[in-house]
Amino acid sequence: MYIVDPQAAREAMRSAFGAERYAKFVSELNGRCQAKKRLFYWQESMWDQVQKTLGTHITDFEEVSNLFRHCHVHGSELKSELVPVLYGTHQLTGKYIDTMESLFPHANSVFLGPCWHESPTERKVFFCELCREAREKWEAQRGA
Ligand SMILES: [Zn+2]
Repeated sequence: MYIVDPQAAREAMRSAFGAERYAKFVSELNGRCQAKKRLFYWQESMWDQVQKTLGTHITDFEEVSNLFRHCHVHGSELKSELVPVLYGTHQLTGKYIDTMESLFPHANSVFLGPCWHESPTERKVFFCELCREAREKWEAQRGA
């Protein structure tokens, strides 16, 4: 039985890799990784390295996810809910992606599905309420 405090795991990860790579780790883990139920290889190697410091050996995807289920921008814990799946081609500009990553990385109001249609119309996502507020504010300013 390995027990680690989420705060300790987050701190260890952030101090080992720096804020930028930590942000990418957390965004992908709570985003795309949730659909495929596994870490990317680069995330596994980051996590392996940090586990040496922590003295843990956690390999279960859900357990790793639970440790890092927070917003690295706002510090709040993420909540989960069902959101509509948007199928089709998604043309997000690089500028929008940069804004999203720095201001509201966990807004997740919709789930971007592939360009072909599949049966699920809803998916469970993890989101940060403060990210959603930040995105609304940003969109309102943009529209003004
Ligand atoms: Zn947030």
